Amino acid sequence: MDYNRQSLLPLEFTGEPGVGKVLIIGGAGYIGSHIVKRVLERGMQTIVFDNLQTGHREAVIGGTFIQGDIGDERILQEIFAAHEIDSVIHMAADCLVGDSMKDPLKYFNNNVSKGLNLLGAMLKHNVNKMVFSSSAAVYGNPTRVPIEEDSPPLPVNPYGETKLIFEKILESCKVAHGLQYISLRYFNAAGADPDGLIGEDHHPETHLIPTVLMALLKKGRKVPIYGTDYDTPDGTCIRDYIHIVDIAEAHILALEALHGGEGSDIFNLGNGKGFSVKQIIQMASTVTGRTIPVIETQRRPGDPPILIASSEKIGRKLGWFPRYEKLEDIIATAWRWHRTHPHGFRSSSLKKGGKGWT
Ligand code: UDP
Repeated sequence: MDYNRQSLLPLEFTGEPGVGKVLIIGGAGYIGSHIVKRVLERGMQTIVFDNLQTGHREAVIGGTFIQGDIGDERILQEIFAAHEIDSVIHMAADCLVGDSMKDPLKYFNNNVSKGLNLLGAMLKHNVNKMVFSSSAAVYGNPTRVPIEEDSPPLPVNPYGETKLIFEKILESCKVAHGLQYISLRYFNAAGADPDGLIGEDHHPETHLIPTVLMALLKKGRKVPIYGTDYDTPDGTCIRDYIHIVDIAEAHILALEALHGGEGSDIFNLGNGKGFSVKQIIQMASTVTGRTIPVIETQRRPGDPPILIASSEKIGRKLGWFPRYEKLEDIIATAWRWHRTHPHGFRSSSLKKGGKGWT
């Protein structure tokens, strides 16, 4: 299938929203880099802070870039002292469910302990607005779908635990120090920038959609289907896939809401539709016109069978709605990226390292 560029144009610039310099922690990662692009398109100034452990310097298309780790208190203090930052988007985290089952301490350290440094530095410098990247993983095995925000959070893996703990820390800082925060519980981020500039590039890649598409680009690869005996119509896990540009747009709305005096809040971010692993593979086959090689294997520990969001609350309160609702469009943008960047950012002509655009 041809990629229909016309229907996938980025959201148009609608003017200066009155938000100043935004510090984007983890802005060189897959989700972060798409947020940076969208924030820049809206005319805001950005500083990206990223340790480049999983992110890519080339993914940060503009603004100031500073390499470092949020575990390093000194550098955080220097950044807040040197720049007039008025809000923070915090998305630096380890984010793989399976990995978190094997190495929980890494997750508690990177996702919780190091985040405390960040909050400490913010509060010390009177920066009191944060948009936090949370996750559907906080819900565990929900009894009702679509999941609403008041569904009891009972994570079934350490990754989800770390996100829930950090949300609680934010709430405590709100009460004690007047922190204003919006926590966005992402469901499954997917797709790529429709301009084809940036996309998903993990090493190793473990997420379903890129794994499926890469199997078409790298000889001899098969897509493992993790479990076919779940209590779902075709036996495979069901997830709610949301386009990366729609996630980025939600961050703009969240920043505007915080600056507009909206109180702290927690929102789901999903499409409200669930697709099984087998349905994803089928749609990828339709979009690419190729057969996907698969192998059915054991369940992956920590995977809940069904996660589907209700995003009614963010629609009602922040006016967010998904523009890339169709799974076909989500996969088409991802396919365009992977086809043109089979080696991820290493396929790009941009060089690694160097100073940021300032
Ligand atoms: N999955 C799979 N094969 C893969 C990667 C993922 O069957 O190679 C399944 C995984 O078990 C889960 C769903 O696809 O049910 C989405 O997994 P992903 O890692 O993309 O996101 P997660 O839901 O873990 O955040």
